[in-house]
Amino acid sequence: MVLVSPWDRQQLMKKIAVIEEIHNDGLDLLEKNSEYEYELITNVSKDNLIKKLPEFDGCTLRISKLDESILKHCPNLKVISRHGVGYDNVDLAYIKKRNISLLITATANAVAVAEHVVYMMLSISKGINQYDNQVRLGNFKKNASNIETLELFKKEILIIGFGRIGKNLIKKCLGFDMKVNIYDPFISTDAIKKFGGNKIENLDMGLESCDYLSLHIPLNEKTKNMIDYKRLKLMKKNAIIINTSRGGTINEIDLDNALKNNIIFGAGLDVFEKEPVDKDNPLINNKKILLSPHSATFTNECKSRMSIETTKNIIDFFENKLDKSMIVNV
Ligand code: NAD
Repeated sequence: MVLVSPWDRQQLMKKIAVIEEIHNDGLDLLEKNSEYEYELITNVSKDNLIKKLPEFDGCTLRISKLDESILKHCPNLKVISRHGVGYDNVDLAYIKKRNISLLITATANAVAVAEHVVYMMLSISKGINQYDNQVRLGNFKKNASNIETLELFKKEILIIGFGRIGKNLIKKCLGFDMKVNIYDPFISTDAIKKFGGNKIENLDMGLESCDYLSLHIPLNEKTKNMIDYKRLKLMKKNAIIINTSRGGTINEIDLDNALKNNIIFGAGLDVFEKEPVDKDNPLINNKKILLSPHSATFTNECKSRMSIETTKNIIDFFENKLDKSMIVNV
């Protein structure tokens, strides 16, 4: 029998930095596993991360930026486990060079984001904020009939990006008897048909006919400003745009102007070019926009699922049993 001294055990333990708080359910997984110890790092200033991170074998990551200037001080780091699916806050070129693995919570958040899209489509279409406001002002019936509201029934939605969230959203839209068009050059017509959608080859044509537009694409050189004034002008006057993907895929100034010029009906935004949003960002004062603070995944259930998946991914990584869908190929 090989005896492992407490000192050896200490040396074998994997040290995990939990960068920014996550739900306790995920921390419990690390706590219950004697092979891991973790430290919660809430001070995410660059100086503190450079001071703290060098001793860790792996880390979880929410929205803090991990670039070369920090990562070059982390000789032991083998894995970064994102609490989420986007990873534009990680220096991909550098982690590739260093062979650091990047993991995402691939299955945890699609439902919550898709529900958030439906919530925004319904809130804007049904004038929820205006009705609520009028009742509170004592105008129970007086102004109510002046508020223009819409139905989802039989309307056409264009979903841009048919990945995890797009595939979840389509089921909900079909439940409202909507016609669903999909623009995603990387997904086949047959795959889209199987889900009950129609593949659109030409984005501009899809924009011309849709009543609702929902974006579910990553932010990159191809998708930056994908929806600009020229494209907004193609859309119907009654069209409603929802963006829960990444700020910057829609040009914010163009969207603000399009709404002010009555080119489209309304918009719901969960994501912004700069987060948190600046107080002087014109979108904040535009009443035709429904805003949320990048909170689509903040449901109790999703917070728990995401935190469990984030820490489970780290454990699975070190135990060589990681589900391939969780790995980002950089
Ligand atoms: P995913 O990787 O599963 O799907 C993305 C899809 O976009 C893929 O099918 C891909 O083929 C498609 N795509 C890529 N480039 C395209 C292009 N130029 N035109 C059309 N389609 C293109 O991603 P996902 O999990 O569905 O997430 C989608 C987006 O939502 C990401 O930007 C992610 O960061 C964001 N997100 C936001 C929140 C939030 O809290 N608001 C939560 C989760 C994800």
